Amino acid sequence: MKQAVGGNLIQVRPLFAACATEPKGAECLDALKNARNPFFLGDQPAGTQVSGWLDAWTPASSAYAVAARNASDVSAAVNFAREYNLRLVVKGGGHSYQGTSSAPDSLMVWTRAMSAVTVHDAFLGTGCRGKIPPSAAVTVEAGSMWIDAYDAVTTKAGRYVQGGGCATVGVAGLVQSGGFGSMSKGFGTAAAGLLEAEIVTADGVVRTVNACTNSDLFWALKGGGGGSWGVVTKLTLRTHELPEFFGYAGGTIKAESDAAFRQLIARFMSFYHDKLFNPNWGESVKIKPENALELSMVCQGLDNQQVADVWRPFFDWVKSSSDYNTSDLEAGSIHARAWWDAEARKKRGSDAMIGDPRPGVPVSHAWWSGDQDQVSAYLHGYESLWLPAALLRQAEQAHLASALFAASRWWEVQLHFNKGLAGAPAEAIAAAHDTATNPVVLEAFALAIIANGGPPPRPGQPFDAGVAHEHARAVDGAAAELRKIVPHPGSYVSESNYFNDTWQQAFWGNNYRKLLAVKTKYDPDGLFFVHHGVGSEAWSSDGFTRLV
Ligand SMILES: Cc1cc2nc3c(=O)[nH]c(=O)nc-3n(C[C@H](O)[C@H](O)[C@H](O)COP(=O)(O)OP(=O)(O)OC[C@H]3O[C@@H](n4cnc5c(N)ncnc54)[C@H](O)[C@@H]3O)c2cc1C
Repeated sequence: MKQAVGGNLIQVRPLFAACATEPKGAECLDALKNARNPFFLGDQPAGTQVSGWLDAWTPASSAYAVAARNASDVSAAVNFAREYNLRLVVKGGGHSYQGTSSAPDSLMVWTRAMSAVTVHDAFLGTGCRGKIPPSAAVTVEAGSMWIDAYDAVTTKAGRYVQGGGCATVGVAGLVQSGGFGSMSKGFGTAAAGLLEAEIVTADGVVRTVNACTNSDLFWALKGGGGGSWGVVTKLTLRTHELPEFFGYAGGTIKAESDAAFRQLIARFMSFYHDKLFNPNWGESVKIKPENALELSMVCQGLDNQQVADVWRPFFDWVKSSSDYNTSDLEAGSIHARAWWDAEARKKRGSDAMIGDPRPGVPVSHAWWSGDQDQVSAYLHGYESLWLPAALLRQAEQAHLASALFAASRWWEVQLHFNKGLAGAPAEAIAAAHDTATNPVVLEAFALAIIANGGPPPRPGQPFDAGVAHEHARAVDGAAAELRKIVPHPGSYVSESNYFNDTWQQAFWGNNYRKLLAVKTKYDPDGLFFVHHGVGSEAWSSDGFTRLV
């Protein structure tokens, strides 16, 4: 097998293995120094971007990994795993909250080394001549991160591709999740932009899938969840004309009393409905237990003046009242081409992006400082719920505001407006309709996320399990308040509760039955297993034993 993959079979050691034997050695010190650098974590075969989840999963390294260079390496690994009945796991960017790219005693297919990005003026899918017109596109190999795609497509080529918000997420994991970025309210999901993929299925065959060839598997890859269908080796995504400007609005508003905070939530939701519920505006706000509203909104297509005009009425209302304190409200825009240009940002003195500090790495390799808290975090609780746009209607807004206030008594509630497609252009909604993602996303104005965590329980470091369990209960309490207005919510497969026991319905709704049929067709023996993946109900929780 080692020969079949050009020698790229490696024995995997846990991320901090060196620290157990030589705590002062260079390898251990390097791992500790870089433990909160998402690029470093991605470069380690045993690296995971989150450090596990209370009572759910703990990072565990595979026995061996194939550091694949191409589809032929992947095919050799898949054939070997199938023939010898091995537990197989696939890892790209390593950002799974659910731990689905980490499996003990497994053979890992690790795609990190496959990271070429090619921009096309006119891409025509295999077998699509005369059926689908060529379109501008980008082909990304499966080990690429979104920052690699944005650097090639936006910074260098002046176009736009719909990917994820977090720069270091892997392209293949996110597209198979459905996938949302800051501008998804304008351009839809990442999955909906998929034109073609190359995938090695359980039989070891390298297949091209698109709307014209293997269209059932193509549809399943568009949101059916990573790690269940085969190993994707490359993806081709549609590109769009780049808007002239990308912008932002941010700041924190602190209310003086509970009553004032209730009013602030109600006022903001009404403002959102009137001014921001459209293709221009995405990203999020945080509704905090300490009676604070934190704004972190992003827009596309509006210049500085237009952004300022949109926010003026709300900012003026806040500033005119002694019930609210704020010192940092700001809104503005920049040329879109400079959005993911970490070097240009640094020259302007912006600290919004953090560059990978290691020597010899690409200058484009930077992550958003807003994502720093999540790097290496250990999750205590996590829940997400899609909130229907009907809740924004005049008659419903008071209920919505009350539920958000009640939930925020338990824990901070984040509203990710770009992760619900209500308010998006008709074509973005139609394209997302033709994916496997739960169709409730089409009618949701936002995805509510409630999550918490802390430093991982590592030897020699304090860890209070009681507090961690209290945190988990607080997430459940907050989610229960939102369930009072959305009794059976859909949830985003990749940003969801590990313990969701109605996951089939929550992640995929009525699409689940069709997904299961595709799974049975291409992977009848269940070689590809992940926690709460399509077909996983037939397996023990570790993926080793078939139950039915
Ligand atoms: C800090 C952070 C920020 C995030 N931000 C966003 C965001 O802005 N928008 C959003 O939509 N989501 C976001 N997510 C969720 C993220 O999109 C998913 O977790 C995604 O699946 C991660 O992909 P990955 O390749 O990085 O992770 P991995 O853990 O490597 O993979 C995730 C899953 O996909 C499978 N997989 C990976 N590569 C392949 C492949 N080549 N072929 C087949 N299966 C594969 C794995 O087996 C695993 O099951 C975020 C997650 C984190 C931790």
